[in-house]
Amino acid sequence: MKHGPSSESALPTVTGFSPGFVALGLEAPLLATLEALGYEEPTPIQREAIPPLLAGRDLLGQAATGTGKTAAFALPMLQLISHAARGRPSALVLVPTRELAIQVGEAVQRYGKELRVNMLPVYGGQAIGPQLHALKRGVDVVVATPGRALDHIRRGTLKLQDVRIVVLDEADEMLDMGFAEDLDAILAATPKIKQTALFSATIPPRIRAIAHRHLQNPIEITIAKEPVKAGTAPRVQQTAYIVTKSHRAAALARVIDVAGANSALVFCRTRLEVDEVTAMLTARGHRAEAIHGGMSQGQRDRVMQAFKAGQTELLVATDVAARGLDIPQVSHVINYDLPSSAEVYVHRIGRTGRAGREGAAITILDPREQRLLRTIEQHTKARVTVLPIPSVADLRSRQLDRVQAAVEQVLRDGSLDTFKHLVERLSVHPPAEVAAAALKLLVRAQGGERQEQEIPLIPARQPEIGRPIRDARHSGGRLHGGSTGAERPPTGRSRHGGRTVEMARVYVGVGREAGIRPSDLVGAIANEAKVNSNIIGAIEIEHRFSIVDVPAAMASGIIEILGRARIKGRRVPVRLFRE
Ligand code: AMP
Repeated sequence: MKHGPSSESALPTVTGFSPGFVALGLEAPLLATLEALGYEEPTPIQREAIPPLLAGRDLLGQAATGTGKTAAFALPMLQLISHAARGRPSALVLVPTRELAIQVGEAVQRYGKELRVNMLPVYGGQAIGPQLHALKRGVDVVVATPGRALDHIRRGTLKLQDVRIVVLDEADEMLDMGFAEDLDAILAATPKIKQTALFSATIPPRIRAIAHRHLQNPIEITIAKEPVKAGTAPRVQQTAYIVTKSHRAAALARVIDVAGANSALVFCRTRLEVDEVTAMLTARGHRAEAIHGGMSQGQRDRVMQAFKAGQTELLVATDVAARGLDIPQVSHVINYDLPSSAEVYVHRIGRTGRAGREGAAITILDPREQRLLRTIEQHTKARVTVLPIPSVADLRSRQLDRVQAAVEQVLRDGSLDTFKHLVERLSVHPPAEVAAAALKLLVRAQGGERQEQEIPLIPARQPEIGRPIRDARHSGGRLHGGSTGAERPPTGRSRHGGRTVEMARVYVGVGREAGIRPSDLVGAIANEAKVNSNIIGAIEIEHRFSIVDVPAAMASGIIEILGRARIKGRRVPVRLFRE
């Protein structure tokens, strides 16, 4: 599959549609929407999935969140149903969680804007009345969690006989959450002749079994199968910070300020993001400039000249715009979003750490994109260290460190006579006071006195997973292990450095009977999943099983890795704990 640096798709023109999307067979209303959203070219999964889906094929796709898979199924689905009769649902998308139902529903609505498609998200925990009302009025696409969908089918309020397309999104998670039978029951209520697409981050045998039962002669798509060639991945220090969408901009500003990035490339996925990020960074006093495919060649040339001359410190770019540009060595590459493939990631971070110089690559990561990050790690054979987002105190301390280093440098350079005269003129004040006042001015000039908000550490990934647990606190790595039935407050949050972390409970199928101690579990999680042990919350050891609390955002990754590992010499089942 071609994508990223090797892709031949041209820069989108200012007025025309992206040739990459045109080539996939999408029609004008959708192309116009993609243009308005600032998408410059299809991601690999979109390139692979859209043509066969438009041709009516069933599809089994292995793709994680962050690869652009929602658009990969939503765009062809919308195009196909836009030609269908309206009223009863023509498309049904099943997703594991309420959060995803909302998110995918919003994406469907966004992509279907020009087609005036009616979409209804249907999930548990929401009043059923408005859902019934909307279903009566007529909807074209239903995005539902399996439990609530089945509820409606049984009440006769969700009629699926006109459904032409069914999408099972994040099928592995739906099975993990125990929805296998519900899926079968829902699919049984749809017509025999229909198109079905199944997306899953992994394709274990139980997913194959579902695919076998419900897909007909599907086309199979796996993204990022090919490892990045040995030695082509640059050797730079790679870190990632996990934050939710609402804190992404603040997190970007924070990491730029903490890193003291003075010549950095900031990559975004869309033109809209490039413009927003540039405006935000400029407002914070950075010299930032945008570069994307919506700009004329002359504009792009001017931006590049300013960057090369050092007049701009932050260049904010889309992949397409940065491709083929002769960008000089930069101190930092910052991914405002994780790119949709390992190849693009490698190309992005290759802009730093060249010719033996130090470089750093920083990624702002959505909690749901951790699996994609791991895929990228596997393909680049390089570790990306996930760190807690720096707190306001961390930021202040880094700012003071930099001021100290700058002052020491000036002291070493000398030539201070003019300023010594100034100190003499201020001699009514003690010299230490004068120095402190001067430093204060320096810090202020660098924005160091700006009001900053704390950014929450890894907030909830999914309410269903991070649902109430009995432990509230973990205290700097100290474990509450070894006891059963310990008293715990009824909350699913844990405090970490004064910030709240949503926790999930992980079931590990080995307990006291096998001589398991909390330290065995901590060791297994910390060593196998390569996470810091102080993220682990309470541990309960029962006779035949144990329950470990971990940040909800890390739960699925820890479950996957621990499921493959050996604990006390043996493989044990690991999954989310259900009461
Ligand atoms: P998904 O993997 O579907 O969750 O998508 C991840 C993110 O990528 C979403 O924020 C989308 O808006 C964005 N996205 C999807 N396709 C593209 C594209 N072709 N170009 C730029 N951004 C995209």
